[in-house]
Amino acid sequence: MTANMLLAIHSIPAYVACSALMLILCPPVTHQELQSPLGLGSWLDRAWCRLESTALMMQTQSDIPAVVCEGPHTAPYSLSPHLVKPPGAGSCSCCRLGHVIVDMNGNERTIPCDKRVIGEVVDTMLAVRITHEAQDLTAWRFWKATRRYWLQGLPAYPDAPQHAQDGATARLDARLPARECFQERRRSWPT
Ligand SMILES: [Zn+2]
Repeated sequence: MTANMLLAIHSIPAYVACSALMLILCPPVTHQELQSPLGLGSWLDRAWCRLESTALMMQTQSDIPAVVCEGPHTAPYSLSPHLVKPPGAGSCSCCRLGHVIVDMNGNERTIPCDKRVIGEVVDTMLAVRITHEAQDLTAWRFWKATRRYWLQGLPAYPDAPQHAQDGATARLDARLPARECFQERRRSWPT
């Protein structure tokens, strides 16, 4: 992956935020190499496509519509936000190939997993969205609480949350904005 490709990938949230409309063109066709059916279902399953729809959902500018077009004989319709799934749990061609490709000379070459850079973008988008909701406690709680959900399936990276394995209460403590107050009240609970 070249430096310019990485810059383009990290710019996906900016592209989406500047858009007036996301058009999802997914006619029912057959994959030429894999002979598998393609359409909205495969679009929703691909990690890269999930990153685009996740970027749309996490952007803070306005309500940008996502319209699905399956062909000239089907009326376009809006993409339900409920269909947007975590990018890391989606499929990638690199993973399907076992992160090994064969070059033009027949030599095998190891390639990095796309989910590493996808994770960096998702983590950045989450951080921006959580910061953006600082004045709206309900929204702030939603994005904070669902952070692990959106990061699932993505390789670890430096800024990812490291969740302790010492029980649900400890994890809840770490997420609450009034953590000290909560701990004080808990100490006063009858035992
Ligand atoms: Zn991979």
